[in-house]
Amino acid sequence: MAEKTMEFKTELSQLLHLITHSLYSHREIFLRELISNACDAIDKIRFAALTETDLLDGDSDWKIRLSEDKEAKTLTISDNGVGMDEEALVENLGTIAHSGTKAFLARLQEEGVKDNPDLIGQFGVGFYSSFMVADRVVVDTRMHGKDAVKWESEGTGSFTLGEGERETRGTSVTLYLKEDAAEYLEEYRLRSLVKKFSDFIEHPVVMKVTRTKTEGEGDDKKEIEVTEDEILNTQKAIWLRAKTEISNEDYNEFYKHISHDFNDPAEVIHYSAEGAMEFKALLFVPEKRPFDMLMGGGDQKAHIHLYIQRVFISSDFENLLPPYLRFVKGVVDAADLPLNVSREILQENPQLDRIRKNLVSRILKTLATMKDKEFDKYLTFYSEFGPILKEGLQSDFENREKIADLLLFETTKTEAGKLRPLSAVVEAMDEKQEEIIYLSAEHRGLAENSPFLEGFKADDKEVVFFLDPIDEFVMPQLHEYKGKKFKAANKGDAGDDKELKEEKKKFEGFLGFVKDKLSGVKEVRLSTRLKESPACLVGDEYSMSPHIEAMMRRMGQ
Ligand code: ADP
Ligand code: MG
Repeated sequence: MAEKTMEFKTELSQLLHLITHSLYSHREIFLRELISNACDAIDKIRFAALTETDLLDGDSDWKIRLSEDKEAKTLTISDNGVGMDEEALVENLGTIAHSGTKAFLARLQEEGVKDNPDLIGQFGVGFYSSFMVADRVVVDTRMHGKDAVKWESEGTGSFTLGEGERETRGTSVTLYLKEDAAEYLEEYRLRSLVKKFSDFIEHPVVMKVTRTKTEGEGDDKKEIEVTEDEILNTQKAIWLRAKTEISNEDYNEFYKHISHDFNDPAEVIHYSAEGAMEFKALLFVPEKRPFDMLMGGGDQKAHIHLYIQRVFISSDFENLLPPYLRFVKGVVDAADLPLNVSREILQENPQLDRIRKNLVSRILKTLATMKDKEFDKYLTFYSEFGPILKEGLQSDFENREKIADLLLFETTKTEAGKLRPLSAVVEAMDEKQEEIIYLSAEHRGLAENSPFLEGFKADDKEVVFFLDPIDEFVMPQLHEYKGKKFKAANKGDAGDDKELKEEKKKFEGFLGFVKDKLSGVKEVRLSTRLKESPACLVGDEYSMSPHIEAMMRRMGQ
């Protein structure tokens, strides 16, 4: 293969620049990222080989090896995982797979670039973190049945591709360390980083270590140097360990390993189910929303890592959690699912449905407890993930009521910007009131000044404000909550006509006159709902609300 130079996409070079500058004080994470990639690569080939043994080429002695060369000032992380061919290299290391890179960069610029590990961590820096410690990175890789390929870059504008040297399947990433990163050549430093970040990794992380040993007895005694492979991690699957044995620190590092998040999780859910179905689950609720996880943005699927009796099966098993809980990260290790079947067949297994139901109910319960016991923490969670959670009203009928229990809204009785549980609104309601009254608006100010509120205010009825655009789409799916139906304050006959028979006759002529004058108005009615304003426009019971109409107009509909 002739060597060739290719350009990174513009956003990528910008991103590389940002990563190296804003994460500098945390640059040791490059090792976690590279070991994590090696581990993923091993898991990938191992899973594929469950159904296609040939892929192994007889090499299934899984290892992630660290080797340093003090003279050349290089550190190499190599694995016998799946490897990459030319196409995969360009695809994975030459472009950024994340769709929202541009939006992300804009946000970084806006919120200030310096020292913003939180933000950049939400993005997941991955492989590119190598450029924080190296001024040149060489990836030599080989896939089953393909030629070895070499990728090389200085992390600036371009990378080159050429012939690789690897003779066996897998990948070697060699870092030409920067002057000030020589510490990563030291055994003690590498050892402590592996311990800190990667102790629970299932595959051995090995390094050649030279020790002086004493040999012989008495006069024959002599010191000799022995170089041996040493395994640096304990490889204990954290979810299988007893909760009492696991520190918060352990949980946090494990969370970062599987989520690529930079922050600690907000909540850890660790339990084992026994009886009809046996499995262990270790789940995390993140603190911050990844930058691309919005309605319609980013990946809509939940990514739970599935293991079957400790064998890693997949990191994106769709059936394990519904999309509206996609912010939850974690691991499920099932005891009675079949190994050695294709993913498609496994995907259909009814056992998965049962596991999913169990996980969903655990997660909803955990959130309910957080809401009841730690409301401030719940508020933070809600501001990040509330809109995603609400999607569940539409898709998870069985749990609608439980999801509704978790919803918060501004109402006529909260200060602007303050939220109140929907459940509290209903509890505070007069028993005779049959409907939960709501008003959709683009923002609090508009809602507040709406003439539709006058009547309800006079009757001291609390009105719930739907200020999130998604509310109007998903809330109707609820139909009712705690036995109360939903009713829009600005639609239909809320307060119209009733008890107005007499007056109606008296004003008939006038109403007809007004209707003639206003083209486009379907009907002119008397109403008791207004207390101060002389008139207001209402929609039909089933018409689009002005708020949605405005949204549709903006979207060019
Ligand atoms: P992520 O791991 O979140 O996908 P990275 O930036 O860490 O993002 O890696 C990008 C991609 O490069 C990976 O998804 C994988 O396809 C590929 N890759 C990286 N390291 C290796 C490796 N050691 N072996 C095989 N593929 C790798
Ligand atoms: Mg990675």
